Amino acid sequence: MVKTHLIILTLLVPFLALAQGKAPAKPQDTEIYQPVPPVVKPAKEHQAPSDAVVLFDGKNLDAWVSTKDNKPAPWKINKDGSFTVKPGSGNIMTQQKFGDVQLHIEWRSPKKIKGDGQNRGNSGIFLQRKYEVQVLDNNNNDTYVNGQVGSIYKQSVPLAKASVETGEWNAYDIIYRAPEFDSNGKKLKPATITVLHNGILVQDHYEIKGTTEYIGPPKNIAHGKDAIELQDHGSGVSYRNIWVRELN
Ligand code: MG
Repeated sequence: MVKTHLIILTLLVPFLALAQGKAPAKPQDTEIYQPVPPVVKPAKEHQAPSDAVVLFDGKNLDAWVSTKDNKPAPWKINKDGSFTVKPGSGNIMTQQKFGDVQLHIEWRSPKKIKGDGQNRGNSGIFLQRKYEVQVLDNNNNDTYVNGQVGSIYKQSVPLAKASVETGEWNAYDIIYRAPEFDSNGKKLKPATITVLHNGILVQDHYEIKGTTEYIGPPKNIAHGKDAIELQDHGSGVSYRNIWVRELN
């Protein structure tokens, strides 16, 4: 009996809508067909998606230069398709400048443990040369939590420590939105960053306060597109499979 009433009611709804002068709602009313998103072929293992800018494919450091003198990056390329920081040689940066990006980068702490705290397997990835996602061998090696692996250095403590064993490969997947400034250099919108460390969310759309500073508070200096920079902190950290997708 209840079922019969329901069927009658369902059949009546369109007529009631018509009686009120409204066309009855259809499923199609809320379907969208334009614009069509682009087709992107996902990355095969240790490769990049079809629309990515490959920053290191295992062969050469052509996409990178030394931050000291803009000359070819002096870090060491390894037979296994990775490269390693050459301690004391200084940071390297991409030749290409970027704004909003999705960045994939894999890194490995030296297997041979040396130093402690911030001096063990320290490196870092600077977005737009200013905002560091910390790279550190934090395994059995505590330090200040806003400087541990996966932190936005001296600004944001990661939500988890998701490192693999020392000497094995880690992956960071970073979604970064650049800050916006007006013509007077006043910040209109902070940069935001989301970081997955080995697939684990460690930074969740964090609003970056300003530049990464070792001493003192972050600074805000207006800037446009800029390079991705890797840090030489005196540790033989290795990198491989680096690619970026420009957003916008
Ligand atoms: Mg660092």
